[in-house]
Amino acid sequence: MTERPSYLFYQGRGRKPVLDQARGIYMWDTDGKRYIDGSSGAMVCNIGHGNENVLAAMRDQMERATFGYRLHFETEASERLAARTADLTPEGLDRVFFVSGGSEAVESAMKLARQHALATGQAQRWKVISRSPSYHGCTLGALAITSYAPLTAPFDPMMRAMPKVPAPRAYLDGLDPEDEATGLHYANMLEDRIIEEGPETVLAFFVEPVGGASTGALVPPRGYMERVREICDHYGVLMILDEVMTGAGRTGRFLASEHWGISPDIIVLSKGYAAGYVPLGAMVAHTRLVEPVLDEGGFQHGFTYAGNPLACAAGAAVLEEIERLGLVQNAATMGDALKSRLETLMDRYPIIGDVRGKGLLLAFEFMADRRSKAPLPAHLRAFDRFVQIAYDHGLIVYSRRTRGGVDGDHVLVCPPMIVSEAQLDEITDLLDRALAQFMDEIRPTLPR
Ligand code: PMP
Repeated sequence: MTERPSYLFYQGRGRKPVLDQARGIYMWDTDGKRYIDGSSGAMVCNIGHGNENVLAAMRDQMERATFGYRLHFETEASERLAARTADLTPEGLDRVFFVSGGSEAVESAMKLARQHALATGQAQRWKVISRSPSYHGCTLGALAITSYAPLTAPFDPMMRAMPKVPAPRAYLDGLDPEDEATGLHYANMLEDRIIEEGPETVLAFFVEPVGGASTGALVPPRGYMERVREICDHYGVLMILDEVMTGAGRTGRFLASEHWGISPDIIVLSKGYAAGYVPLGAMVAHTRLVEPVLDEGGFQHGFTYAGNPLACAAGAAVLEEIERLGLVQNAATMGDALKSRLETLMDRYPIIGDVRGKGLLLAFEFMADRRSKAPLPAHLRAFDRFVQIAYDHGLIVYSRRTRGGVDGDHVLVCPPMIVSEAQLDEITDLLDRALAQFMDEIRPTLPR
């Protein structure tokens, strides 16, 4: 790629192709090259690109008003989206606070939890326990409950250390995820940690119901989520579900927590909630938490762009399209079909050590040796290199270092929820070609 100078910077110096158009599951750059969006961006564009009904709803709202400050006006769009969101979340989770993204939603949940503790005479509660590895966002508060070394390490001195418990990675620990004893084993680590910290000081436990970028679609073992709910109830700790990546249908249910029948105290949503059409997120809290805070003078928190009418109109239209097109069911069906295709690839490529996930939140993990679970050597930078090869073949996938970002590599394969079976074949074929090329490249370095 020829280097063009740029005023813009994100992670590094490398330049990317320039995006021209995107429709459905496909994207084109300005050279006319086509890509399949096999990761829905960063697991965002769940209803596909260029949905006409969403665009029409946005146009309609734009003609009327694009901005109304939330402390000056309510809008029909924000009210409608809040009502629909309350309908789609468990009973009692009826109070919706809008933000512009996942990290903002996480910050909002931490702060509401804290204000609820203050309003109910529990001022000593402030510790937020989360899992390791995990990803909850890049702002300093959300980062403090994140456990992913490459992103957290530079900022350690600027953050308050928060307690962590191990994520339930049964596949690495050689435990059977279908055995309820495994779920209890990991969930009870939360109880041990709460006791160690002093239960009266623990405010909340944050959990991604199916892991995202940090663990690569980690599904909790049987009984885990239910036991976590029990433990939180027992110690008066709020259970906050980070459904930023899993929410809005991606795992084959509107909320991933529905797989276990869990009703949390707070849910945070973003990504698929507005499917990439606008920056939008939401914190959905139980009325029981919100009322005491409002009684005590209100929630001391809010972002200027919160409840933006254009964002809310887009979000409401996205939820309507998810329902009209039956996309939650399609995510479940196509997810099963894609998972079995990934398992077939695992049979053929020994460097795939694990395939996991739910619905269309799926991943495979590279390993040098399946039995010992040894990762590929770090110098191969498989997470980078494999993505580049797939990209060259016209397939976008999302890869990260796994195991807390320390070693190991996983690849998330998460196409938009509109994907068809024929398109899954296209994706599988491109993955196959990319894997073959990657295997050829690294074969000389692998143990015999
Ligand atoms: N929580 C989870 C589970 C996420 O996956 C992400 C984004 N990858 C975030 C929070 C942060 O969202 P954002 O990047 O929109 O701030």
